[in-house]
Amino acid sequence: MNNSILTKRHTCRLCDDPRVNNVFKLKSTPPANAFRKKKDIQKKQIKYPLNLLLCEHCGHTQLQEILDPKTLFENYVYVSGTSMSFVRHFEKYANQVISKYRLKRNSLIVEIGSNDGTLLRFFKNKKNRVIGVDPAKSIAKIANQNGIETIPAFFNDKISKKILNQEGFASIIIANNVYAHVDDLKSLTISIRDLLHKNGVFIFEVSYLVDVYKKTLFDTIYHEHLSYHTVKPLINFFQSLDMVLFDVERIDTHGGSIRCHVQKDIGTKKMKKSVQNILQIEKKSKIFRPTTFHKLSKSIEYLRNDLNTLIKNIRRKGLKIAGFGAPAKATTLMHHFNIKLQDIEYIVDDSPLKQGLYTPGYNIPVVSSKQLTKEPVDFLLILAWNFSNSIIEKHKDFSRDGGKFIVPLPELKVI
Ligand SMILES: [Zn+2]
Repeated sequence: MNNSILTKRHTCRLCDDPRVNNVFKLKSTPPANAFRKKKDIQKKQIKYPLNLLLCEHCGHTQLQEILDPKTLFENYVYVSGTSMSFVRHFEKYANQVISKYRLKRNSLIVEIGSNDGTLLRFFKNKKNRVIGVDPAKSIAKIANQNGIETIPAFFNDKISKKILNQEGFASIIIANNVYAHVDDLKSLTISIRDLLHKNGVFIFEVSYLVDVYKKTLFDTIYHEHLSYHTVKPLINFFQSLDMVLFDVERIDTHGGSIRCHVQKDIGTKKMKKSVQNILQIEKKSKIFRPTTFHKLSKSIEYLRNDLNTLIKNIRRKGLKIAGFGAPAKATTLMHHFNIKLQDIEYIVDDSPLKQGLYTPGYNIPVVSSKQLTKEPVDFLLILAWNFSNSIIEKHKDFSRDGGKFIVPLPELKVI
């Protein structure tokens, strides 16, 4: 890995305006998912800056740094089916879409960034045709083996045409947590539009910047996430591509996300009140002003001081801390808060794909929960804090034996 994989943005991703200003900055990190094998941890791991730009023209917030997506996504280790709460989320999601748009059987559902096919399976079970597209080759292979047809590639014009030729127009195109990841959103969106049926709906979920700000969820800022979306700039963006954002829902995923519903401008679905409502929320939150980001920066400093003090006090008493969960966002949290191997002994993660690896930058070993018996600790710092409730529930025996959980965000709690 070398510096040639890094490029920088000088214009807005959504409106092309060159007036993009640096409003916020976090500590440099390696790519958040660059977990390594033991044999590699002696090698130097390059850290890249994390600067946020705010577009003066449309208000879109975006990362200045762009790392080569091939480096980031082709060896991806995240598998959605491994997390039970995600599986339930997807089942509910599929059922909602089917009833909301009264989908007829045999409708074509295309998902971009379909991972192991967990979501598409719920559509397939209801007799729809499904096609997934995902650049992570090993995960696409798992999906295909499980009977969910998945094209191992980045979705683009070529793939869009290929699906159109083979299967016809799509009734629903879904892209969850993809819209934040792609640099050339314009080409991506045109390829989506061209595959969409004239009455079809494009639905995507992304982390919501207003929630990031209000709840200080700064750990969702890492190199995979190039955009931090709000609705106002998206409305203009879709308009420029002959599409209409006609409905938006706020959902809990990743601590606060939006699910946007978009159609072609010839589509017949009515504009929902939800769009006006959320525009009001954005105006009130002052999310398009640089001073808002300065405030966010201050809130993060307070959180950092509180957590560092807590960890220091625990260590001073000779007590031990382990981390729980090794999501990508833990890389941002640990680097920005400077939580290193001397602070936590190891990190427990339930995904067998991450066990045995070492965290990006700080080389903390990721292990299975068996380690808690072998090498007991007094505190578990929940790095996958958005799953705190289910983690605490699942590890009741840890609390019963006197262990305590530390939840770092959205506010520091000891449970
Ligand atoms: Zn812009």
